[in-house]
Amino acid sequence: MIDDEGFLFFVLKRYYLKIMISLTTPLSSIHGIGPKFLTRLHKLGLSTVRDLLWHFPTRYEDWSRIANIAELGTSDHVTVRGVVQEIKNIRTWRKRMVITEALIGDESGAIKAVWFNQPYIGNALTKGVTANFAGKVAQRKNETYLSNPTYEVVRSEDQVTKHTGRLVPIYPETHGLTSRGIRYLIAPIFDDLEEIQEFIPGEILESQDLPHVEDALHDIHMPESLPAAERARERFSFEELFLLQLNNLRQKLALKKQTAPKIVSSDSQVKKLLKELPFELTGAQHQALHEVFDDLSRPQPMNRLLQGDVGSGKTIVAALAAVITALNKYQTGIMAPTEVLARQHYKTLTKLFPDFSSGIGLLVSKEARAFYGEGLETEMSKQELIKKIADGEIKILIGTHALIQKNIDFDDLGLIVIDEQHRFGVSQRAELIRKHQEKTGHLHLPHFLSMSATPIPRTLMMTIFGDLDLSLINELPKNRKAIVTKIVAPENREKAYAFIRGQARRGRQAFVICPRIQPSEIQDGDFVPSDYKKILELDVKTVKEEFEKLSKKIFPDLRVGMLHGKLKSEEKKIVMGDFTSQKTDILVSTSVIEVGVDVPNATIMMIEGSEWFGLAQLYQFRGRVGRGEHQSFCFLFTESTAKTTQARLQSLITAKNGFELAEMDLKFRGPGELLGNEQTGLPDIAMRALQNEQLIKDSREAAKKIMEIDPELTKHPLLAERMKAFQKETHLE
Ligand code: ADP
Ligand code: MG
Repeated sequence: MIDDEGFLFFVLKRYYLKIMISLTTPLSSIHGIGPKFLTRLHKLGLSTVRDLLWHFPTRYEDWSRIANIAELGTSDHVTVRGVVQEIKNIRTWRKRMVITEALIGDESGAIKAVWFNQPYIGNALTKGVTANFAGKVAQRKNETYLSNPTYEVVRSEDQVTKHTGRLVPIYPETHGLTSRGIRYLIAPIFDDLEEIQEFIPGEILESQDLPHVEDALHDIHMPESLPAAERARERFSFEELFLLQLNNLRQKLALKKQTAPKIVSSDSQVKKLLKELPFELTGAQHQALHEVFDDLSRPQPMNRLLQGDVGSGKTIVAALAAVITALNKYQTGIMAPTEVLARQHYKTLTKLFPDFSSGIGLLVSKEARAFYGEGLETEMSKQELIKKIADGEIKILIGTHALIQKNIDFDDLGLIVIDEQHRFGVSQRAELIRKHQEKTGHLHLPHFLSMSATPIPRTLMMTIFGDLDLSLINELPKNRKAIVTKIVAPENREKAYAFIRGQARRGRQAFVICPRIQPSEIQDGDFVPSDYKKILELDVKTVKEEFEKLSKKIFPDLRVGMLHGKLKSEEKKIVMGDFTSQKTDILVSTSVIEVGVDVPNATIMMIEGSEWFGLAQLYQFRGRVGRGEHQSFCFLFTESTAKTTQARLQSLITAKNGFELAEMDLKFRGPGELLGNEQTGLPDIAMRALQNEQLIKDSREAAKKIMEIDPELTKHPLLAERMKAFQKETHLE
């Protein structure tokens, strides 16, 4: 019974909360959530009501069958409602355990319930209390009992239960915050929640046969049936994909509205350039080049991803685009992920185009040099080079990804090439554009060309990178031999070493890659997470140890070099130079070597602890060899005999190309691992939705429909608002 005063308080509280709880309400102001809970919630990254309600269960336990005690059979999974008739703790001295035993009765009979090491249960379940008990019926010595049942005290007949007598959600948990705790927090919020407005247009929900957000929220946390829970989850999966697709289409449209310099090329110009190359382009290179030139000739900025297997020859496509851009009197910035690669690109370009007189510059760390005029290379100070860029005397500038962050004034930037990255981050691009327009006063934007050898499954491509146009180089230059790949068990290590020695005697070279202790998405470039230093140190340690071992014990007769991220820029250059010019036979390295490095005389790629690397990464490593005329080999060393590891490594042998491998990687690791959740900022539910092809298609169609009728989203203000939040939450690479 509630007395008058209590009732008034109850009404006031409810009224008060009713106007208080909205999605943006901080959890700290929710009644019943104290500081202890708050810290735990924060640990899960939850700080508002929205965060909590969008913390979805990973699965459900089915305790929906409710039965009379007399009906119970052994191994039933069941919920029983009854009154506690007796309860006591029994201490077993030998095993140092506390057993709690209770006798539960309903109209039909009575049954024992038993819990292990939960002596506090007696605090909630005192004699005479009515409660639900959800558990498995077990049997011992002819006596049936409920084993460790979940209990829930029932105060009134119409009480909606949270933990028993229904499908019960199981959440991602953290220390001190169990699924039970989360259910306890979520359920009362529903009673006092303001109306949640649906931002997905009604006709789209209808055509997809998806529930309204309010129903979906209810059904994902407190479903009546599994199909209802699944439909709810699909509603949220669809939401993420739909936003992603819509965002892509809108980015695309926004870029279309910008202007870019028209960069034109005549057939004869291109023919002349191609004739001077030391090789003939493959069909796929020709096609990609054609697509790039076509984009460049338009007055809107190109936004294209050039994707092609390792060694497929992407560089030349970018280089030709840069030369044509220079002939049009515009500048190009080429950005590589590492200094080693930037130098290599510089070397490649100056070699490929010895007659290019409009200036090719290299700017990395403290090093600045340029190649201009009559095929002369000049070292100069950074300031000098930067001035030449500002004056437009240097038409092609090569550096690392950090080039974008540096304060470099281009005279007239026409093209940006970014190597080994799928695309520019939205904010990266916005920053670049802002700077460029501010400094030059030019209203036009440069064209963008990204290049990547990291293959991405088609479905992911269409969603995560749906704002990009795609050129594929799906053909390797002729005369490439397939690389022999072998998984090497510990007992065959000596054989592998002997093989390497044999190759070295014949003048070939080998890479030895040491693993990161952490499976990593970290690139050895300039955009690094905070714990990078720690990982770097671990890397360096393993590389140094391996170097000692190989140079002193295993191959004292060979010349061994060492490359890692802690070396100074100048040191790296020397190490790389020694290897390229065959002054060293073996190069021990961290994954610095991963992308792009081109040493055709190297025929062996040996990878230590290969299970630590992702398939795409291993694929990249392997691509470092097989670039010349000699047969090449890749040895995957692993101590692991786990079936999954073996299967994963095996797929590197069976996959015909990078794309097939990417599909396998997606299956082995899921999109989260493949792309890195951290990197995309996409919630788990979106990551999982990325494996649902039908939903990807549907969401794309829906996004297209909206773009046709309301590209600015003026008629869909709620959607526009959600879109803004979405862009903030996600930071797609
Ligand atoms: P990636 O696509 O991995 O960046 P690169 O552009 O570094 O590959 O090219 C790999 C190697 O293949 C380079 O040595 C390059 O000179 C050579 N190459 C590129 N295109 C061709 C071709 N059409 N025929 C023969 N060799 C080529
Ligand atoms: Mg490359």
